[in-house]
Amino acid sequence: MEASEKYHIITYGCQMNEHDSEKISGQLQDMGYEPTEEAENADIVVINTCLVRENAELTVYGKVGALKKLKENNPDMILAVGGCMMQKDEPADRLYEKHPQVDIIFGTHNRHRIPALIEEIKSGREQIVEVWDEPKEPDPETPVKRKNNFQAWVTIVKGCDNYCSYCVVPHVRGPERSRREADIISEVENLVEDGVKEITLLGQNVNAYGQDLKNSTSFSGLLEKLTGIEDLKRIRFMTSHPRDFHQGIIDVVRYNDSICSHYHLPVQSGSTKILRRMNRGYTRDEYLKLIEKIRTDDEKAAITSDIIVGFPGETEEDFQQTLDLVRRCRFDMAFTFSYSTRPGTAAEKMEDKVESEVKNERLQRLMKVQNEISKEKNEKLIDEVVEVLVEGESKNNPDTFSGYTDTNKLVIIPARPGLQGKIVPVKITEAGSWTLYGELLD
Ligand code: SAH
Ligand code: SF4
Repeated sequence: MEASEKYHIITYGCQMNEHDSEKISGQLQDMGYEPTEEAENADIVVINTCLVRENAELTVYGKVGALKKLKENNPDMILAVGGCMMQKDEPADRLYEKHPQVDIIFGTHNRHRIPALIEEIKSGREQIVEVWDEPKEPDPETPVKRKNNFQAWVTIVKGCDNYCSYCVVPHVRGPERSRREADIISEVENLVEDGVKEITLLGQNVNAYGQDLKNSTSFSGLLEKLTGIEDLKRIRFMTSHPRDFHQGIIDVVRYNDSICSHYHLPVQSGSTKILRRMNRGYTRDEYLKLIEKIRTDDEKAAITSDIIVGFPGETEEDFQQTLDLVRRCRFDMAFTFSYSTRPGTAAEKMEDKVESEVKNERLQRLMKVQNEISKEKNEKLIDEVVEVLVEGESKNNPDTFSGYTDTNKLVIIPARPGLQGKIVPVKITEAGSWTLYGELLD
């Protein structure tokens, strides 16, 4: 290939997708491509898709449509669309039939085949669709291009078996597969040797780690082993499913400084009736008890959550129970979603769908309650000193840097050279619902 060929990746969705995109970048760089921030300058554009909610899906169609122009200007540009959305027949067929500008369609189980597929296109093949229904071979080790040299994601469990009735993830990411403990530990050791200070362990349900392996340790056992790696300053993990949460996790977190005191425990609803229809495997009371337990055992822990409003059958009374649960749990933060019907899921066929206006109105009410709680909790940190891992320039203002506390709170500080990648003490001076502002302590 020519020396300066460039690639551009557009990623939608969760951290798993972000991490997959890092792997695609690694493979493309291995082939000799260099990254570019502008799709216009790219010789290959990859879109890594998401379909967890309808909006995510519509955004992808919009993006593919917009890229048509680029392809007209530069017919040699290769356009590849892959990831979760392509695991479903309908969107994959639609792209194939209506968007001939798409050269390669690939899925979640054959991501590692991208270099081979690109070579095929380069040698003259037109429009390749290669999507595997299931993982046909173990994911080979491929290079990873990380966003910086001090943070890394590490997948510990792939796929999901939970089949929450609203969720498409098990349909597109395959069954739950834990990675071997020895492989995880050696990956983390290598990362730390390369200068990584913070890792985030990824899985749809990290608490279930090891349950599908013979003679494996549990999730808390894995966490404990990772704390033995010298120079690894921060260990994060997500997502924790409330059903499989166990006391061992709280214990290992509270007695080990390098494990971040942050639990992301999506509740989804505060009504036991709705939780049952969602197939979540716990009741409102069980969830409340779990939060109480964490709060008593680990006072400084931050707890965040995901909540869906307007699930089929949700009455005003059910919604009130969600509001009440949110007031009792006092989450540090919550991602709130309006229920979106996903094809092929059990909830798709459920009756008593909630009207859009009602869903939107509930979402607004819920966000108002949660934002106030987040703000109050953040305001308590004013004048406190927190440790921040500085990531670099903040999103909206180049004169400031941003980073996160171990409790996963975003902190903005005045920019100063040399801070990137360092864990520094910061005194908090101002707080909003989503962001803290502070000054560096010398
Ligand atoms: N494995 C994680 C969540 C993965 S999806 C867990 O079990 O918690 C991320 C979040 O998207 C979910 O927690 C849920 O709140 C939301 N979500 C998933 N499917 C949805 C749908 N059909 N409509 C609205 N929100 C949805
Ligand atoms: Fe989806 Fe439930 Fe699996 Fe999370 S646990 S990915 S919400 S099916």
